[in-house]
Amino acid sequence: MTSPNYDFNAHAFSAQPGYDEATVRKEFAKLMPLRTVIIYCFDPRAAGIPEAVAKEFGDVYPGEVVTDADGNGIGTTTTVLNVVVAGGRAMDALRSITVAQHLLGVENVVVVHHTHCGASSYTADGIIAAFKHEHGRDISDLYPRESVCITDYAASLEHDTRLIRTSPGTPAHVNVYGYVYDIETGELTRVTADLGTARSSAA
Ligand SMILES: [Zn+2]
Repeated sequence: MTSPNYDFNAHAFSAQPGYDEATVRKEFAKLMPLRTVIIYCFDPRAAGIPEAVAKEFGDVYPGEVVTDADGNGIGTTTTVLNVVVAGGRAMDALRSITVAQHLLGVENVVVVHHTHCGASSYTADGIIAAFKHEHGRDISDLYPRESVCITDYAASLEHDTRLIRTSPGTPAHVNVYGYVYDIETGELTRVTADLGTARSSAA
């Protein structure tokens, strides 16, 4: 159904009269007690990953919606935000980490690759050649080659941990971890851990 007269921007925070960015940000920070951002694959078989990571890190997931006196959903008790992308590769998640930090504050970023992942079924050369052949498009320079697929689990988790750590959009205090999730047993195995630096008292 189309609603050509519906003004979507009527509900945009920054379009409200008297909008004050700093005040709105403070209110946003109360919406949920975020601790951990989880990056994992869009494969439906990997759907158990947030629960497994929450157990590993003592996080709350999926939590409950918090309502005000009028029954409006104004927050949640979960401490986890999920970034669900092909292969669980970090490249797709960098901007989300920055936004999550800005609005809510992040302590941990956990990258999870899973066994039998579709991203390990093709190669960078293969997907580039297929796109050229099937769609007439050259994607050879579109994405960094080392983020296109998974050829070696430990190497790709090490790469993704480094990518997140060295991104200026990841604050220094954030801990970055890399795990493999076994989709048959639900077991998590830690492969990388890059702990953040302690926050200064001024932060
Ligand atoms: Zn996958």
